[in-house]
Amino acid sequence: MSAAHSRHEILIVGGGIAGLTAALSLHRAGVDVAVRESVPEVKPLGVGINLLPHAVRELDAIGLLDCLESNGVAPTTLAYFSARGQTIWDEPRGRAAGYGWPQLSIHRGTLQVLLHEAAVSELGPERIKTGHHLVDIRNIDDGARATFEVRDHPGTAESIDADIVIAADGIHSTVRRLRHPDEGMPIWNGALLYRGALEAEPILDGRTMVWAGHPDQKFIAYPIRDLPNGRQLVNFIAEYRTDSRELAEREDWNRVGDLADIAPMFSDWVFDWVDVPKILHAAPSMFVFPMVDRDPLESWTEGRVTLLGDAAHPMYPIGSNGASQGILDARVLTGCVLAHRNDPDTALTIYEAHRRPATGAIVLANRGLGPEMPMKLVHERAPGGFDSIDDVISRDEILEVTDGYRRTAGFALEALASGRSVADADYSALPS
Ligand SMILES: Cc1cc2nc3c(=O)[nH]c(=O)nc-3n(C[C@H](O)[C@H](O)[C@H](O)COP(=O)(O)OP(=O)(O)OC[C@H]3O[C@@H](n4cnc5c(N)ncnc54)[C@H](O)[C@@H]3O)c2cc1C
Repeated sequence: MSAAHSRHEILIVGGGIAGLTAALSLHRAGVDVAVRESVPEVKPLGVGINLLPHAVRELDAIGLLDCLESNGVAPTTLAYFSARGQTIWDEPRGRAAGYGWPQLSIHRGTLQVLLHEAAVSELGPERIKTGHHLVDIRNIDDGARATFEVRDHPGTAESIDADIVIAADGIHSTVRRLRHPDEGMPIWNGALLYRGALEAEPILDGRTMVWAGHPDQKFIAYPIRDLPNGRQLVNFIAEYRTDSRELAEREDWNRVGDLADIAPMFSDWVFDWVDVPKILHAAPSMFVFPMVDRDPLESWTEGRVTLLGDAAHPMYPIGSNGASQGILDARVLTGCVLAHRNDPDTALTIYEAHRRPATGAIVLANRGLGPEMPMKLVHERAPGGFDSIDDVISRDEILEVTDGYRRTAGFALEALASGRSVADADYSALPS
């Protein structure tokens, strides 16, 4: 096998949302960085994704806010409903809630393509390459060496040395598997998510994210693009929980789901504010995805190699944190690298000390239903419906859950009050 060889200050394995954000952020800070992505071509895969205001602040800091705002939708309200369509609670989101930045709902593929195009244009095609699949990683004197199979030239490899290698290669991270060979498949909680997007009339005011039902059966919808004809591209998730815990096959974001498996369960979810069966039947296609995560790790860094994004902390897609936390990792890493430019070991130690405990707490909070707990309580206390929600759950009880989750996930309003990017925080020493 012939092998090309090069060296960079930082090498990122995986050109997904977190890896590309890290590349743009480090490059703009003057760091020599390269990315290698496994897929031969970046295609706009996936459906909707949400970015919380603290992650949007970081994307703003690297100059992407205008472009993302014009390609997504900024929800102003999150509304919770019971399985009978009755209102439980609503709360303002993004700027409407007093944040300096919006929350953004966007097609994941659009986001990835925008990040990829920005990275190629700013770093150049030599530094951002697709079709390179990581097969080996090892520490060497003063750095780490990553070896990639070059997919469109069978028998060819590329090996790259770097002061630091960042594994941003997603929930099935090769680096994580090499480091933790016994970890096995992600852990499934039995829930299946049928996800899709379709052109539809706006739901409610066209700026509301709706969550209806309870942990055993739930419907979520939010717009991800305004269309010129006044309609919207609406993302939906119809979810139900099975008794199974064993995944028959590895989960895949692109696995096609069957309408016949999900539609009957929602056939009577016709409310005055949304017609769920109509949405499911009108969707051109849908994907089925199991609710999986992995246990938090005891460490992320070994020598000059560390983890970032889903490779480090895959979590249930609850509470809009998957992509948001990967973006925060990227920016904290940038701050740590800049604070310790001549001492990569210290940069990685401080990065991990900030991000590993914080994201581990969110993985666990999401297992405990995160911000969806009030929906469970309402279902348990009033399965047949209610005359007044105040008889079922108090505002204080809901606020305790939702405020607690905001604090855990790092987007409590006061945490963003200074307006300062996390990359500009003080990383001179370990957090106290
Ligand atoms: C195809 C796809 C569709 C998705 N759709 C959705 C969605 O609809 N909604 C949602 O909430 N989340 C979705 N996600 C997950 C979401 O992107 C992540 O949870 C989140 O954005 C964190 O991003 P990440 O960069 O850590 O991981 P990812 O976005 O998963 O990116 C990881 C990247 O690493 C690459 N990679 C993997 N192995 C190797 C290797 N050995 N060598 C080199 N590169 C490698 C992958 O090809 C991928 O591009 C999707 C992910 C993928 C890959």
